[in-house]
Amino acid sequence: MDMADTALIKQHLIDPEICIRCGACEAACPIDAITHDDRNYVVDVSICESCRACVPVCPTGAIDNWLTVPRVGAYSLEQQFSWDELPAELTPAQLAEFGVSEVAEEMPLTQKEVAQAQARQAPAAEPDPSGETPFDPAEFNAPQPPWSAAHAYSNLYGPRAEQKTITATVAGTLRVTQVGTEYDTHHIVLDFGAMPFPVLEGQSIAVLPPGLDARGKPHVPRQYSIASPRNGERPGYNNISLTIKRVLQDYDGNPVRGVASNYMCDLKVGDQVQVIGPFGTSFLMPNHPRSHIVMICTGTGSAPMRAMTEWRRRLRKSGKFEGGKLMLFFGARTKEELPYFGPLQGLPKDFIDINFAFSRTPGAPKKYVQDAMRERAADLAALLTDPNAYFYVCGLRAMEEGVMLTLRDIATDAGLDWNEVGGALKRQGRLHLETY
Ligand SMILES: Cc1cc2nc3c(=O)[nH]c(=O)nc-3n(C[C@H](O)[C@H](O)[C@H](O)COP(=O)(O)OP(=O)(O)OC[C@H]3O[C@@H](n4cnc5c(N)ncnc54)[C@H](O)[C@@H]3O)c2cc1C
Repeated sequence: MDMADTALIKQHLIDPEICIRCGACEAACPIDAITHDDRNYVVDVSICESCRACVPVCPTGAIDNWLTVPRVGAYSLEQQFSWDELPAELTPAQLAEFGVSEVAEEMPLTQKEVAQAQARQAPAAEPDPSGETPFDPAEFNAPQPPWSAAHAYSNLYGPRAEQKTITATVAGTLRVTQVGTEYDTHHIVLDFGAMPFPVLEGQSIAVLPPGLDARGKPHVPRQYSIASPRNGERPGYNNISLTIKRVLQDYDGNPVRGVASNYMCDLKVGDQVQVIGPFGTSFLMPNHPRSHIVMICTGTGSAPMRAMTEWRRRLRKSGKFEGGKLMLFFGARTKEELPYFGPLQGLPKDFIDINFAFSRTPGAPKKYVQDAMRERAADLAALLTDPNAYFYVCGLRAMEEGVMLTLRDIATDAGLDWNEVGGALKRQGRLHLETY
């Protein structure tokens, strides 16, 4: 065996036991080294350069695993897809099977060093003929919360926590899209009784659906954003709410029955659910006086926006709200499919500036959330440069690029340098993306 094959590397791997399959790592990876199937997120050793861009965005720490392996014995994608747990570090005997004898004297190479060595030997890549650098929205996603965010507890329950799961009891379930449409979304209230489950607006939980998947293994957890404020769906109670869309079609429109979403939407009051979490320490709202919040969402992406809006509404009601704009851009196909359409209409105009966009209203031109943003370009441009303005984007992944390109266009049309504006949004914890 050649020396290069037995050289030790630190292989970047994702722990399937604690990964909650949120996809944040895949979105954050600047060179597409992370991919997934319907079960595991995995890292391609031939692409990963150990840049660690994925590490801060992972809500559980599942991403931060580096095993020492000889290059020739690096774990393949197929192996990683089949794992239920991370393998242990190789023993000296296992290393010897790869021809590695003097482990103590060998310095493991980082994957970056390996990639650099490979690049030195490989012919130079052809330059992109368009000359344009591809736009990556995740590059501007802030890994840190706003400076005035409250402290978030995370991972209180999960595979590595002292208590693996917490049992929640369904305290309420209500359909929040108009009955009769195919887009069935439920508002579900979960109660934690006397067990600690402190949360903040913008955090999420994960649900463990009962039963086994097609491979005979327990279903992987599914994540849901919390739709209620920090002091409970019902103020003073230890409960939270979720906004869950029943998945009846996959992303390509083929009929399918989503495991967790259907399980959750079929639950009745009094049923019990196994939950892990809470998760998320960056998609959190600012708390300082006169901080502005711009919320851009589609469908169930409204859940964290409802939580933030409701917290501010409660503060205002108690006389503790010290100004600060709330601006909402909310898109759906029709108003009947828009969760919470009715309650949103009832909010005072001087409290929240609501901009709806419907793409399939019969007889009306198609309007997407980006169109609504463009109509308010002057206001958004001013907020982009205001250090007290915070931007939140949540919904299906397909919306992310369009929304971010619109923000970039709005900045550029206002004579601003997007890279400076986007860089400041990220550094100052002022732009948060959560798409799925
Ligand atoms: C951070 C985060 C927050 C989330 N918050 C929410 C939330 O507040 N409300 C909510 O309803 N969902 C939310 N999700 C999505 C949720 O976790 C599940 O992915 C979703 O409910 C589908 O799970 P399922 O078990 O029903 O479908 P699965 O059984 O996992 O999937 C069935 C099929 O449907 C496809 N599919 C999965 N999700 C969708 C979708 N949304 N639209 C179309 N096809 C899909 C899959 O690719 C698969 O082919 C969130 C996800 C993340 C990562």
